[in-house]
Amino acid sequence: MLRSVILAASRSSQVERLVATAPFTRDVVRRFVAGAGTDDALRATRELVAEGLAVTLDNLGEDTVTAEQATATRDEYLKLLGLLSAAGLTPAAEVSVKLSALGQRFDERLAYDNARAICAAADAAGTTVTLDMEDHTTTDSTLDTLARLRKDFPATGAVLQAYLRRTESDCRELAYAGSRVRLCKGAYREPESVAYQAAREVDKSYVRCLNILMSGDGFPMLATHDPRLIAIGEDRARWFDRGPDRFEFQMLYGIRPEEQARLVGDGYTVRTYLPYGTDWYGYLMRRLAERPANLAFFGRALMSRK
Ligand SMILES: Cc1cc2nc3c(=O)[nH]c(=O)nc-3n(C[C@H](O)[C@H](O)[C@H](O)COP(=O)(O)OP(=O)(O)OC[C@H]3O[C@@H](n4cnc5c(N)ncnc54)[C@H](O)[C@@H]3O)c2cc1C
Repeated sequence: MLRSVILAASRSSQVERLVATAPFTRDVVRRFVAGAGTDDALRATRELVAEGLAVTLDNLGEDTVTAEQATATRDEYLKLLGLLSAAGLTPAAEVSVKLSALGQRFDERLAYDNARAICAAADAAGTTVTLDMEDHTTTDSTLDTLARLRKDFPATGAVLQAYLRRTESDCRELAYAGSRVRLCKGAYREPESVAYQAAREVDKSYVRCLNILMSGDGFPMLATHDPRLIAIGEDRARWFDRGPDRFEFQMLYGIRPEEQARLVGDGYTVRTYLPYGTDWYGYLMRRLAERPANLAFFGRALMSRK
C-alpha cells in the first residue's frame, strides 16, 4: 500500500517540488547518489574500484520530452566514457542507460541512434553498456532496441524484471552465449495483468529466472540486495561451476555496502550501480518505495536539521 503511494508520488511534479526544496533532502540524496557532476561520478568510481568493486554508472534522468534533452543526455554519456577511459577506469566501469532518457517515449528511432552512439563510445573505451528496464509499456521496445544494438555491440546488457509474468520466457530467449542479462525484481508500479503483486510471488519468479540464467550459456548479472536470493545465487554458482568471470552480483550504491564488500572478499565479482546527476527525484522515490523503512531515514534527517 505504502509502496503504491510512494510510487504514485514519484510521478507527481507537486510532490517533487516539495521534496526537492526540503532542507533535509540533500543528506538523503547523498546516501544514494554520487553527486551532481561528472567529476563526482569519477571520484566515486575511483573509490569503489579501489575497494575491488566493478561499477555501472547511471546519468540520472528519465522520460525525456525533447530531442535537445535526449541529445544532451547522450553527450553526457560520451563525455563520461571518454573520461573513464582516460582515467584507466574501464573496463571496471561500464554505463547503464535508460532509453526513455534518450527519447524513447516520443521518437524510438532517435533513442536507438543515441543508444548506438553511446555503445560505440563504450566499445572504443573498452567497456560495455547495459540498457536499464523501465515500466512494462516499454519492455518490447527496449528488447527490440537491444536486439538491434547487439548486432554490432553483442556485449550490450539487458535487464529483465522478475515481477513481470513474461520474464521467465524472456530469460529463456536471452540465455545464450555472450548475452549479458541483469536480473532484478522490478521497481515500477505495475498492474496485476502483467506483474506479480505479492512479494513472495516475485521472489519465486526471481528464483525460477535465476535458475534459467545460471544454467544457461549467457552471463547472468544478479541484481538484488535480498539475502535469501544472494545465498541462492551463491549456491547455483557452485552448482553450475560459475567463477567470478562467468557471472556477477550487482547492488545499488549506498545499499548494503558491507554485503558488497563481503562478497568481494569471498572472491565474487560485484558491480555497484552508481547514479549521479541532478535529476534524482524518480530514482530516490523508487528507493524509498522498495523500503519504506527508508522514510525513517528521511525522518531522522529532518529531526537532525531542526
Ligand atoms: C544493480 C541494480 C540495477 C537495477 N536496475 C533496475 C532496472 O533497470 N529496472 C528496474 O525496474 N529495477 C532495477 N533495479 C531495482 C530492482 O528492481 C529492485 O527494485 C531493488 O533492487 C530492490 O529489490 P531487492 O532485490 O533488493 O529486494 P527487496 O526485497 O526490495 O530488498 C531485500 C533487502 O535488501 C535491502 N534493501 C533493498 N532495497 C533497499 C533500499 N532501497 N534501501 C535500503 N535497503 C534496501 C533490505 O535489507 C531489504 O530487506 C536495479 C537494482 C539493482 C541492484
